[in-house]
Amino acid sequence: MSALFQNYARRPFAIVEGKGTEVFDTTGKRYLDFTSGIAVCSLGHAHPSIVETIQKQSQKLWHISNLFESPGQEKLAASLVEDLHLSYAFFCNSGAEANEAAIKLVRKHTGKHKIIVFEQSFHGRTFGAMSATGQDKVRNGFGPLVSEFVTLPFNDVTALKAAADADTAAIMLEMIQGEGGVNPVTEEFAKAIHEIQQSSDILVIVDEVQTGIGRTGTRFAFEQTVIKPDIVSMAKGLGGGFPIGGILGTEKLFNTFSAGTHGTTFGGNPLGVAVAQTVIDQIFNDAFLDNVKQKSAYFVNKLEEAFPEEKYSVQGKGLMLGLSLGGEDVAPYVAALDEAGLLTVAAGPKVIRLLPPLTVSEQEIDEAVNLLKGVLKEEQVSI
Ligand SMILES: *Cc1c(COP(=O)(O)O)cnc(C)c1O
Repeated sequence: MSALFQNYARRPFAIVEGKGTEVFDTTGKRYLDFTSGIAVCSLGHAHPSIVETIQKQSQKLWHISNLFESPGQEKLAASLVEDLHLSYAFFCNSGAEANEAAIKLVRKHTGKHKIIVFEQSFHGRTFGAMSATGQDKVRNGFGPLVSEFVTLPFNDVTALKAAADADTAAIMLEMIQGEGGVNPVTEEFAKAIHEIQQSSDILVIVDEVQTGIGRTGTRFAFEQTVIKPDIVSMAKGLGGGFPIGGILGTEKLFNTFSAGTHGTTFGGNPLGVAVAQTVIDQIFNDAFLDNVKQKSAYFVNKLEEAFPEEKYSVQGKGLMLGLSLGGEDVAPYVAALDEAGLLTVAAGPKVIRLLPPLTVSEQEIDEAVNLLKGVLKEEQVSI
């Protein structure tokens, strides 16, 4: 008997060790981890720099609260906004909390409550973030929800233009929807959002909890679009496995969060920010990001070679990729891939999501494609 609530449909094995892209279960079985703990362990498991940072910082100071100045938060904030149009950061502990902060910030700043969100989006499980999430399975049974989230079809320019009115505080979206499939924002939709930003006071929140911190080959995915968000939320990859989240905001929002308006006990504690700084120092440089782009192109090419049939399609950007099986349910395949030694995660019912560490090697990509081909088509490719 388990003493745990049943929130998760857990896979029937426990991972107890990891190094880079490889992880091992209690029986010693090896897997390639193409989940990265759901886009979290972007530098792979037990990265030596992160191990060293945790060892050093844990001997100095773990936690002190936000009652005091925080040189670590100052430095991390400066690193995150460098060369971007964003100016300020607030740190918390998770993606949902980051989105709560974003929602509170736009409400307080605009004095309005209507926030436009999208079908199949995912923003987290707390009340604001859940209310913003465009998936019934996330919201059902928990009402009444936070009011005035208006859910529109994703990438529908006409619906967006009709809904974005003078009562609208913000538009909130992901650059690539991750939980409801792997659905990138279209160029046309990004352009429409940019136009709304230019012609109105409507704020734009981009949820980069999954797409941010190098996952798509740029620091943030919005950089590959014309959208200039007023607020960016982040978490998952930020701590490389240590729980930390945050938001970045533009200059004009600076006075909205004055002292005492919003906060957290744990948010941005010295251990968390030291780890995140180590992650950012590795990822936020052109050589690393170019390498992510190269590996993405290599991976996409290998997938397209292995799955040329029309029913398959490869979606996504950088190392946030989805393999769609043309409407087939992916759950049995994900289980068979586990069995074969490749950990993947479904994105909605129809897409296999591939989220290797950003440090994955070409050889590991070859091995993964081979395992995918073996399981999905019951044949092997030579590598
Ligand atoms: C995972 C995720 C969240 C929620 O993050 P938690 O840390 O689980 O609260 C929010 N938005 C997106 C896009 C996510 O992928």
